[in-house]
Amino acid sequence: MNIATAAAQIGLEWDTRTGAVTVPIYQTATFRHPGLGQSTGYDYSRSGNPTRQALEEGIARLDGASRGFAYSSGMAAIASLLLLFKQGDHLIVTEDLYGGTYRLFEQIFQRYGLEFTYVDTSDIVQVTSAIRPETKGLFVESLTNPLLKVADVAALAKLCRQQDILCIVDNTFLTPYLLRPLDLGADIAVYSGTKYLAGHNDTVCGLVTVKDPALAERVYFHQNAAGAVLGPQDSWLTIRGMKTLSVRMDRQQENALAIARWLLANELVTKVYYPGLPDHPGHELLKTHGKGFGAMIAFEVTRPELVERLLLRTNVISFAESLGGVETLITFPAVQTHADIEPAKRAALGINDRLLRLSVGIEDVNDLIADLESAFTTEA
Ligand SMILES: *Cc1c(COP(=O)(O)O)cnc(C)c1O
Repeated sequence: MNIATAAAQIGLEWDTRTGAVTVPIYQTATFRHPGLGQSTGYDYSRSGNPTRQALEEGIARLDGASRGFAYSSGMAAIASLLLLFKQGDHLIVTEDLYGGTYRLFEQIFQRYGLEFTYVDTSDIVQVTSAIRPETKGLFVESLTNPLLKVADVAALAKLCRQQDILCIVDNTFLTPYLLRPLDLGADIAVYSGTKYLAGHNDTVCGLVTVKDPALAERVYFHQNAAGAVLGPQDSWLTIRGMKTLSVRMDRQQENALAIARWLLANELVTKVYYPGLPDHPGHELLKTHGKGFGAMIAFEVTRPELVERLLLRTNVISFAESLGGVETLITFPAVQTHADIEPAKRAALGINDRLLRLSVGIEDVNDLIADLESAFTTEA
């Protein structure tokens, strides 16, 4: 079944008793037992809730997974996955990583004896040479944040298989609609569902998909044991958002390409990072392995003063963190999303004081471009 169809119909056949077209919100903590030692299949909502299950089955179907899991946030999902490792394990990680993930690894999990090495995961040579005997995991962003580097998930997954390393792909920026990491051989895909999947900047959630049933059982054990599950209301909101994933993504990508081209032609812009542009280093790879390029753009302006102008003088575009929703947002990664990475390291990565990031929404693209144009040209 096509992903657009599967997404639109999440939860459709859930309620066979009434035939409700959308899955009901099972706002309950616990479930009555029909008899001693008997269960309806639901006992307690941390262990399983029908609304959450509809979402979990939905994301599993979109990713071609054996099981899906829903968490209270993307970070909760990632933290829960890190519990699969033990003291002394080493993980190789994408270097221009989402700031919150970097903070979680460096400031929390390092204290529990996990070790992390950060490399450019779009370069398989760097990944290969970082492997040690105790390397047990690879955590890679399929499309990185904010510099939009593209990882060769198929090649990395193959390398992981050969070396018995768990391959985890943060596929937040692409979603299963544009790239399916498990099809390419990854063991686990993880999403901040807050972003494109829920898609409306109205809920925070995390999603995980797993291919191998035995590994899925271990992930379930940790989800239930650590307990950062998604509540029924937020599960419902996420399903509701996911139903329109394909139309939103199509429109957002179309807008992003037009804006990237416009920025490229702007003399106040020195660099444009967008994988949909043919000269982007990851363009061909995404064309082969994926179905699109997403709707995140990073760009560098000529002078730092222009940054404040763009953040504060845009009216249609909002200055806010987060991404992937229907509204276009602009942010300043060096201060807003990547502040927890040391300044020298940030600079080396290219996250400097002239770099801005756009999450392109579904608005009319002419309104968005006119907004940028006027912000660029209005003197402070
Ligand atoms: C936002 C984000 C996260 C964290 O997800 P939350 O839902 O904010 O907890 C992780 N990875 C990436 C790539 C993100 O953009």
